[in-house]
Amino acid sequence: MTARFDREGPIASLRFPLLDRFGFLRHAVTTRLGGSSAGPYAQGNLGLSVGDERDAVLANRLSAAALVATPGLQPATLRQVHGVTAFFAEQAGSDGTPLAEGDMLATSVAGVPLMVQSADCLPLLLADPTRRAVAAVHAGWRGTAASAGREAVASMKRLFDSQPGDLFIVVGPGIGACCYEVGEDVADAVARTVPDTGVVSHTRGERPHLDLGAALLAQLRAAGVPAAQIEQARLCTACRTDLFYSHRREGEPTGRFGALIAMTTG
Ligand SMILES: [Zn+2]
Repeated sequence: MTARFDREGPIASLRFPLLDRFGFLRHAVTTRLGGSSAGPYAQGNLGLSVGDERDAVLANRLSAAALVATPGLQPATLRQVHGVTAFFAEQAGSDGTPLAEGDMLATSVAGVPLMVQSADCLPLLLADPTRRAVAAVHAGWRGTAASAGREAVASMKRLFDSQPGDLFIVVGPGIGACCYEVGEDVADAVARTVPDTGVVSHTRGERPHLDLGAALLAQLRAAGVPAAQIEQARLCTACRTDLFYSHRREGEPTGRFGALIAMTTG
């Protein structure tokens, strides 16, 4: 399966066949194409704490939220801290203020646009068509080392009584093994969560290269999510700075792209 590129609307975005089949939700992974940010943030930056102009970011966030919910809403967001804490969002965001501290937003309330932001970290979008709930997760190496994939499945169970076999999950764009050279400590911290899965390679030079997407996939599989219900974007943010922001490739300042999901109203 491959993502569909959607140039409609003020911010170009990707949509994934795995989630597109469900009428009860809308989802999007934004690109940097379109939007009103300039300079290193061009164009669709959704990060408020990266030095970009606040008004531009809030306008971009309105555009992003409109991809999945009623126009005029700000997305619900978190102050992301590279952990695995989940937060239940009852309402949309307001004025860019994070709802809480954490790295997973979930809801069963129709019309609430959830958004996580990243620039190399991998977003996950989760849907449970049986319990009617959705979630968005932000996972970099720290979150993945804390088993973000397993924890996301556990949080869905706790919040909605979701069964792993009922979950449909997109592992979005993020830094690929091609570009993610890390220290042995980082490689070990992640590999430890998914033994014998080959998420670390030593074939590209002296330092290990880490495949965060493969690690998250292995965690989701270990938690009981069927392989056929997981779709990986397989897009490397550092290779594709034409589409995404990459902290690793571009350094700071750069922007943040977003992964959004919402339950439809009516
Ligand atoms: Zn790459």
